[in-house]
Amino acid sequence: MKFVYDFAEGNKDLKDLLGGKGANLAEMTNLGLPVPPGFTITTEACQQYLRNGTHVDGLAAEIDAHLAALEETMGRRLGDPADPLLVSVRSGAKFSMPGMMETVLNVGLNDASVAGLSRQAGGNDRFAWDSYRRLIQMFGKTVCDVPGHEFEKALDDAKAAKGVRDDVQLDAGDLRALVTAYKRVFAKHTGHEFPQDPREQLDLATEAVFRSWNADRAVLYRRQERIPTDLGTAVNVVAMVFGNLGADSGTGVAFTRDPATGEQGVYGDYLSDAQGEDVVAGIRNTLPLADLERLDKRSYDELMQIMATLEGHYRDLCDIEFTIERGKLWMLQTRVGKRTAAAAFTIAAQLVDEGVIDLDEALHRVSGAQLAQLMFPRFDLSAAPSSLTRGVGASPGAAYGQVVFTSARAVEVAASGTPVILVRRETNPDDLPGMIAANGILTSRGGKTSHAAVVARGMGKTCVCGADEMEVGRDSFTIGSETVREGDTISIDGTTGRVYLGEIPVRPSEVVQYFEGDLDPANANDPLVAAVHRIITHADAKRRLRVRTNADTGLDAARARRFGAQGIGLCRTEHMFLGDRRELVERLILARNEAERNDALAALQPLQRADFLEIFREMNGLPVTIRLIDPPLHEFLPSLEELAVKVAVQHEHGRRVEHDEQLLAAVRRMHEQNPMLGLRGVRLGLVIPGLFAMQVRAIAEAADTLAAEGGRPRPEIMVPLVGAVQELETVRTEAEKIISSIVGDSGVDILIGTMIEVPRAALTAGQIAEAAEFFSFGTNDLTQMAWGFSRDDVEGAFFWRYLELGIFGISPFESIDADGVGRLVRIATEEGRAARPGLKLGVCGEHGGDPDSVHFFHEVGLDYVSCSPFRVPIARLEAGRAAV
Ligand code: PEP
Ligand code: MG
Repeated sequence: MKFVYDFAEGNKDLKDLLGGKGANLAEMTNLGLPVPPGFTITTEACQQYLRNGTHVDGLAAEIDAHLAALEETMGRRLGDPADPLLVSVRSGAKFSMPGMMETVLNVGLNDASVAGLSRQAGGNDRFAWDSYRRLIQMFGKTVCDVPGHEFEKALDDAKAAKGVRDDVQLDAGDLRALVTAYKRVFAKHTGHEFPQDPREQLDLATEAVFRSWNADRAVLYRRQERIPTDLGTAVNVVAMVFGNLGADSGTGVAFTRDPATGEQGVYGDYLSDAQGEDVVAGIRNTLPLADLERLDKRSYDELMQIMATLEGHYRDLCDIEFTIERGKLWMLQTRVGKRTAAAAFTIAAQLVDEGVIDLDEALHRVSGAQLAQLMFPRFDLSAAPSSLTRGVGASPGAAYGQVVFTSARAVEVAASGTPVILVRRETNPDDLPGMIAANGILTSRGGKTSHAAVVARGMGKTCVCGADEMEVGRDSFTIGSETVREGDTISIDGTTGRVYLGEIPVRPSEVVQYFEGDLDPANANDPLVAAVHRIITHADAKRRLRVRTNADTGLDAARARRFGAQGIGLCRTEHMFLGDRRELVERLILARNEAERNDALAALQPLQRADFLEIFREMNGLPVTIRLIDPPLHEFLPSLEELAVKVAVQHEHGRRVEHDEQLLAAVRRMHEQNPMLGLRGVRLGLVIPGLFAMQVRAIAEAADTLAAEGGRPRPEIMVPLVGAVQELETVRTEAEKIISSIVGDSGVDILIGTMIEVPRAALTAGQIAEAAEFFSFGTNDLTQMAWGFSRDDVEGAFFWRYLELGIFGISPFESIDADGVGRLVRIATEEGRAARPGLKLGVCGEHGGDPDSVHFFHEVGLDYVSCSPFRVPIARLEAGRAAV
């Protein structure tokens, strides 16, 4: 097995073996770009090292050979006292894991070669000793686990002794003394001297980079990002070039287009007389890249040309890191660059215009998650103050409100109609009421999988986590000298993670305005709207899956239709039993005999009919799936506790209110320990005579009315929670009679089908399909019942811990669990279609609007997905992406 590749031997497609950085360095080398010479030790060597826990057979000999070649090319030997070659030893995995693994610079320096380095640098002793002390510090921390603060303390002591504040004020003599101090720290912690043998430094640094694959933070990062644990990292050994050799040197980062907006033109930052770390650490203010033209026109022109070459070669936005050493430009890294959601759409469309990619590829280069980001309202930052601090954007959106510090206070203040932002160090399940009441949530600890982040995303609530500059107290928080007290107003941006003082006005998303039909993509000055229009139009042309919406009002139906919905996949009729109709439902439940029950149903029926007619009108010509009532009826009654207290108080005062007592008896009678597994769905229809019949009649009459007006209603009646075909047959027989008595031969066709949301239904789908003209997968309940997780409780209770542990990467209520729940969907699809060819299949659980799940449903072969109106464009885009 070959473990080491010279840069000239690799290419960009070898990321598995050479890691992203190594593969791209190789690609640039082969393009003839000025890359410092070097070689890459493969991920396979790392895997072997981690498996054996010791050196890898044959690796040392290969490194010898490649090092010799490198020395030959450079005309210098590693660590040669007279004229040393120095190298950097850099990690680089297949997937970028920013800052998670290790790097050691200046390998090859020792007590002797430090003088040689000074000579190379034109007698610059200060530079040489500074480089040496950096090596001891980085090597100590990374390779030998010496606590970093010990080095920092020695540096502080050196500055204090000299009475200066900045590192740059230390001269060569001070740094030389610091090297001695660092060596003492090193020896104290490791029990041996700092290794003087350059080759030993190189080997130890390489092994440390291998080991850093399993550092705690890298393990955690991989879990969160779903990066496989066994890939290992490559190690790049690269000849050092120095950007800190004076005014004719420097270092910078650059993008071939603006990664924020996608605008054409070169963007970047430059820092003269500095090394890469200084740019990242933000120690000094950088200059815009354009200023380099003034400072060093030759290097600037060369850089521009190289960037054009890279873009043309990668056919995409690239980001790069470069260094100029005494007027000579070197490329240290490139990759296809990360970008904002807006830039992703804009750049994809630009590249189509430029003839670089076609529309299919443009569609691949954007995602539903990016489109979702573009649909959130955003802060209008035109007159905004600069941000107070920044955390992790954990759940998108823009929210402002008064600061509160406890869940109880959030509930109290929000009840008075004042928007609040709940600020906590971190949240726990007890904070749930406050999180529900708040407009947004801000924490000083935790990342994207913390409790606050998971729960907020589940609720669609804006959340910023881990703003670690904040000190959160009992009734105030501080950031540096700024104190924010309870009652002060702040604004938080759940996309960027920024926190602002005061109320920042919110502006609606242009992309939503476009979908609403309020912005004409042809006229918009905004290239983003034009790009979204173009790409989603292409997705529509390519997709096989149809996209419907979940809607239960005419208003929602109309909006969804504007957003491109091709029908309604789920109308939850219980939503029509709320508000002032609750009293009618109470009458139904309290009915003492058939006559009273029929009266109650007769009162509900015209209301239902009007609801359905409104929806059929909005969706004229498109299918509308109406689900018969699903939840347990006691959900429409007052709470047992509250009512029991009310009646007890009445008794205390010697009063008896017959209605309340009857109601209490009914609530007690209907009380269930596990209502989600209780009297709901089809069971309700079989137990309460006349209930489903009333709904079926209302549907048929509404359809008949619209048909008589010349419209084209296409109702589909859906029975929830079926587990056995007999349940469905019973409902079906009654429904068919009612339908034929109403629509007769008016030409209205009403389908009858069922949800598949109980595992047994999926497993007996062949039988159920005999009685169903369509299936709609209710993946919310199917997930709940397949996992045995209560969908109403788990998010706040323990999912955050499951995510932290990596038991799953994302909540199975958010994205379909393809292996388990997905398997049930597959079985039901295959067996249902085998029993009834042409069986119409869709999904109406939350997963219908989740990007990854849409790909899964495409692949399984469903006919449509159905999701909330705002998710319709996302599902359209993803269905298109799944098809190309
Ligand atoms: C489902 O269970 O997936 C579903 C759509 O029904 P509901 O969410 O109303 O239970
Ligand atoms: Mg359900």
